[in-house]
Amino acid sequence: AGATPLLAIRGLRAAYGKIEALKGIDLEIQAGEIVALIGANGAGKSTLMMTIFGRPRARAGQILFDGQDISSMPTHEVARLRIAQSPEGRRIFPRMTVAENLQMGADATPGSKAERAASLDRVLKLFPRLQERMTQRGGTLSGGEQQMLAIGRALMSRPRLLLLDEPSLGLAPLITRQIFSAIRALNNEDHLTVLIVEQNANHALRLAHRGYVMVNGLITMSGEGMELLQRPEIRAAYLEGG
Ligand code: ATP
Repeated sequence: AGATPLLAIRGLRAAYGKIEALKGIDLEIQAGEIVALIGANGAGKSTLMMTIFGRPRARAGQILFDGQDISSMPTHEVARLRIAQSPEGRRIFPRMTVAENLQMGADATPGSKAERAASLDRVLKLFPRLQERMTQRGGTLSGGEQQMLAIGRALMSRPRLLLLDEPSLGLAPLITRQIFSAIRALNNEDHLTVLIVEQNANHALRLAHRGYVMVNGLITMSGEGMELLQRPEIRAAYLEGG
């Protein structure tokens, strides 16, 4: 306690025309934490993540990264601060090879040859499947492999903060477990700080140190991951029968 959070969001508002997607969000992430953001479809989770990158722009409030307000910063400058994201729907480059996709991630931030080689090594250790498919086009990978590639590409920029939007979306349980175990390893072994948006509240809250629940553009609950998972209102809304 008392340390400057790696990310601090205060009173954040954002909108698409007249649709208010974020209505005053407060959220903090300490360095070394995994924080989960859960909530139903349309709650505003993706918008929160995208607003960190300046699209859409914050209409009010602050986004402090390491104490610096980045809420008016252009997207490419945010990336240079080594905030990386794996967006919803993955958005890899389908016509480029796996190797080229990973290279694009490294190009987002400056880094020496040795640093690039070390990042690539790490990514391929985490996701050995990608090693086998380096010369294959991204578009020919399975859904799970594309998700691995999207995360791998984000890791190539040597992020200080990794934002993951629905990494388990549409994936088989076995692949989901592999992805979540890679995220845990990145946090445990590399001390990577992670914000993960998930509709799979069960997985996300087990993985995360802390979680926030978002409803209709507002944070309605927060707490330790396992503690949130025990709450009857969370179980009723996000776990049972869903
Ligand atoms: P999902 O899991 O479906 O992505 P979410 O919690 O991430 O849901 P958002 O995608 O952030 O929610 O959407 C929040 C609100 O903003 C919704 O009402 C949505 O319809 C609206 N919205 C999102 N993107 C746009 C857009 N490009 N233009 C207009 N409205 C949008």
